[in-house]
Amino acid sequence: MSSLVMPAPDAATLARRAEIVADLRMIVPGEGVVDAVNQMRAFESDGLTAYRQLPLVVVLPQTTSQVSRILKYCHERNIRVVPRGAGTSLSGGALPLEDGVLLVMSRFSRILGIDYPNRAVTAQPGVTNLGITHAVEAEGFYYAPDPSSQIACSIGGNVAENSGGVHCLKYGLTANNLLGIEMVLMNGEVVRLGGKHLDAEGYDLLGVMTGSEGLLGVVTEVTVRILQKPEIARALLIGFPTNEQGGQCVADIIGAGIIPGGMEMMDLPAIHAAEDFVQAGYPLDCEALLIVELDGPAVEVDHLIGKVEKIALNNGSTSCRISQNEEERLTFWAGRKAAFPAVGRISPDYYCMDGTIPRKELPRVLAGMRQLSEHYGLRVANVFHAGDGNLHPLILYDANVPGELDKAESFGADILRLCVKVGGVLTGEHGVGVEKRDLMPEMFTQADLDQQMRVKCAFDPGHLLNPGKMFPQLRRCAELGRMHIHRGQMPFPDIPRF
Ligand SMILES: Cc1cc2nc3c(=O)[nH]c(=O)nc-3n(C[C@H](O)[C@H](O)[C@H](O)COP(=O)(O)OP(=O)(O)OC[C@H]3O[C@@H](n4cnc5c(N)ncnc54)[C@H](O)[C@@H]3O)c2cc1C
Repeated sequence: MSSLVMPAPDAATLARRAEIVADLRMIVPGEGVVDAVNQMRAFESDGLTAYRQLPLVVVLPQTTSQVSRILKYCHERNIRVVPRGAGTSLSGGALPLEDGVLLVMSRFSRILGIDYPNRAVTAQPGVTNLGITHAVEAEGFYYAPDPSSQIACSIGGNVAENSGGVHCLKYGLTANNLLGIEMVLMNGEVVRLGGKHLDAEGYDLLGVMTGSEGLLGVVTEVTVRILQKPEIARALLIGFPTNEQGGQCVADIIGAGIIPGGMEMMDLPAIHAAEDFVQAGYPLDCEALLIVELDGPAVEVDHLIGKVEKIALNNGSTSCRISQNEEERLTFWAGRKAAFPAVGRISPDYYCMDGTIPRKELPRVLAGMRQLSEHYGLRVANVFHAGDGNLHPLILYDANVPGELDKAESFGADILRLCVKVGGVLTGEHGVGVEKRDLMPEMFTQADLDQQMRVKCAFDPGHLLNPGKMFPQLRRCAELGRMHIHRGQMPFPDIPRF
């Protein structure tokens, strides 16, 4: 593991490991408890593979009642718990703790109900994102939020990370498509939030849970909205001589009142890597490539294609292809969807960042990134959810070269600082996790963080659920509101801080 500091393991919990494993086997019999080191290796990391840690024990429950009993057991004995879905988090949200139970939700893999009149699907949290679409596509429906990891990531993980994807510009993130959940609190209590109806009474606790990164409760059931497939979808592939022109075109399309089904941009290194990998027919003589997808009734789509073409020309586009059939549309997307593995072929390692900026700041941020790239001596390739202003710079490095991982991390941190400086935010969709935890003070004041911590304390006052993630300091709930630094002296010096 690099320089990441996590909460110190609790010696008493480590000493009781055999007893804890035996007790958990009573709750989840059969193969649901994994304690052999070689079998736990599969769980030591998530998508942020720079960090690894074996958990105390892995538990794979199958029912809400088992989850409730596990959490109650851990609550009563002060044992930490890290929830995990499919383990594709790119921010280390599912990174295990040495003294923590890793609660893996992958055996919750059933679709529980499809309700076409209410346009809703109820699923267990371990169902994959794409699994929901597969369950309803024969009837002409789909689930709109589409992270690139949708073939693998779980819908429970999507709720915890408020995941997004190409189609979220028009159809919203997970938060906008989630209708209800069942969840278990750290004390074992089972709670239902929302349902199939559109609005819930009382405070928006469903909103609080969405994006809570496994710190507030464990999601055991999810109800999402499904949409009818649009009549037609067509894509434009537009090349620009500069990133600035591509960025301005994005702003002008939105400014003209057009909300494409998806609008993605790639810079030169990403275009070349993607084209070498999938031969999607991308133009190689442009600096920026924009894919704009328009969906809806055929007449409307044809009309909007004409408008987008004109806007692109006004911004100096040098090439523009329009998909003539479904196969061609999918080919346009193939390169973008494979951009991450494509970049993986041109560098031994890459570090994927996830910041969001106001769209108009794109040229300034790209110029800043170029300077940082020179400063750190590391290359960077960019793919963006351009319509949302969500950037995914991929920093290329070689972990076998001493110091390069640290350099890549510092470079990434500087990019995120730049995003915040221009009025953006630290994360678009990958979450804070451990990756951006220590950068939270760049964006939030201590008062902001205290308020967020109060929400955490209302759900989990003992800090047992996924500690060490999201918050840059572990602070006792009782301490909140009384933090005064006097002449540089930190109060409560005995409290672990990381
Ligand atoms: C190649 C690749 C491409 C990706 N592309 C995208 C993208 O386009 N958009 C995007 O948004 N993300 C993307 N991701 C990130 C990742 O897939 C998402 O964050 C996803 O939602 C994580 O789901 P998961 O099931 O793998 O969760 P995990 O990685 O297992 O966990 C993620 C977080 O959710 C918590 N969690 C998981 N399940 C539960 C539960 N049932 N209850 C409570 N907490 C839970 C964990 O504690 C952790 O904090 C990508 C990842 C990869 C590897």
